[in-house]
Amino acid sequence: MAPTAKPDSKPNNSLWADSAERFEPTQQIADSYDVAIIGGGFSGLWSAYHLINLNSKLKIAVFEAKTFGFGASGRNGGWASSDYPVSRSTLIKRHGLDQANALFDSLITSINEIGDFSQSFAPKSNFTKSGTVMFARNAAQETRLRAAADEFHIWKTADELSKLIRVSDARGGLFNPECATVNPIGLLNGLFEYLKLRQVDLFEHCFATPIQQGVLVNSQRVKTQVVIQATEVYGAARREFIPLYSQMVATEPLSQGFWDEVGVAERFTFAEGSHLINYAQRTSDDRLAIGGRGATYPFKSRLEESKEYTVLVHENIRKLAKKWFPQLKDVSFTHAWGGAVAITRDWEPYIQFDPSTGFGRLGGYAGDGVTMSYLAAKIISNLVVGNSNELTGLHFVNRRIRSWEPEPLRYLAVNSLVKLSGVADREEALTNRASVVSKLIAPLILR
Ligand SMILES: Cc1cc2nc3c(=O)[nH]c(=O)nc-3n(C[C@H](O)[C@H](O)[C@H](O)COP(=O)(O)OP(=O)(O)OC[C@H]3O[C@@H](n4cnc5c(N)ncnc54)[C@H](O)[C@@H]3O)c2cc1C
Repeated sequence: MAPTAKPDSKPNNSLWADSAERFEPTQQIADSYDVAIIGGGFSGLWSAYHLINLNSKLKIAVFEAKTFGFGASGRNGGWASSDYPVSRSTLIKRHGLDQANALFDSLITSINEIGDFSQSFAPKSNFTKSGTVMFARNAAQETRLRAAADEFHIWKTADELSKLIRVSDARGGLFNPECATVNPIGLLNGLFEYLKLRQVDLFEHCFATPIQQGVLVNSQRVKTQVVIQATEVYGAARREFIPLYSQMVATEPLSQGFWDEVGVAERFTFAEGSHLINYAQRTSDDRLAIGGRGATYPFKSRLEESKEYTVLVHENIRKLAKKWFPQLKDVSFTHAWGGAVAITRDWEPYIQFDPSTGFGRLGGYAGDGVTMSYLAAKIISNLVVGNSNELTGLHFVNRRIRSWEPEPLRYLAVNSLVKLSGVADREEALTNRASVVSKLIAPLILR
């Protein structure tokens, strides 16, 4: 059967999609494979990458329901970071110091390996590892960030910070060298071409469902020994994860004069240490691409495309950018887009593989999936080929996923969290003291 490809379609509406090269997917689906991977984002493609490098004899197919990079992998903020959705101190409390160290070491190794891959096979990812800065713009943020300083997060005074980035009202910030900036679609392009060279079959417009001893692709039965589900937020959520929307905007390319005033010469990523998540990068073509949260959670975890375009959130992100850099007053914002991330109840990812059934799945990265998907894919690939090593011993491997609360409790709690994060930020900006409201949020996000 030949899948119906649409050669002119963009993967999505992100800034990155503009520079996407057309993938030429495989046309003919074989009757059987050793491994079928469902989902053509980073998790699916990196799984194919690690598997083929662990065993070059494997016959592997990746089935993507839309086009490669349609999901979060083609829409994100391009932070390949060592950030993890749960704080280091909570991780140590939950799993011990050794496990926390092993996790952060493997995230840092993963960033470097993505860098090596990019250098050889994905030059258009514009991978640049020059760290990340989280700055404080009020006293409450400063107190919180200073308290979070450790061997990985170095506190920079306002003066030191201004040598890196010049943001209005900045009072200093944390610098973490373990973060890279990428153009995610450039990385996906390189990955796709690499896998093609390694004879992995890559199918678009193929909706796949795991069945016994195989997958059902559109209406065709394909035999496989192993199925890996890498569909992240698009999989059946039940109560194992919830979708939360993240939205982004990007400016037109900005002048050298603007960047001379603002800094970010090395293209490190940056964000403000507020409660409501935000993230930004200077793109390789000198735009500001900035994202943030704020869209409400959809009842019963039903994905709603309209939430990707919540006007108020896009507007708030543009306002935030102009607060940081008043020089943006008359600049045009040329792109606005969004996507959903999957969040588990304990805010930690899952990587599961059962050798007796040959079924595995990975995901639940919250907003930190660019590096984590590489690591998770490496782990699941090791599990598939029967390796047992330091990576397969990480705490989240083959763990039970805790359920979210039933509706309408979940809807009320999660949307309170979204709303209260914004309220807490406004309170801190007004009072210059740690928000009282943020204490209400803490138990909800378990951080
Ligand atoms: C706006 C935004 C900004 C973000 N910024 C960052 C960031 O800066 N840094 C960071 O680390 N993380 C970020 N993230 C999160 C990160 O992008 C994701 O965690 C990561 O890309 C997930 O990759 P994935 O391959 O698991 O999922 P996806 O990229 O979503 O891929 C899943 C794919 O599965 C396909 N699919 C679903 N069902 C089927 C089926 N039945 N059959 C076949 N195919 C199917 C979908 O079409 C989709 O293409 C951001 C996310 C968003 C939305």
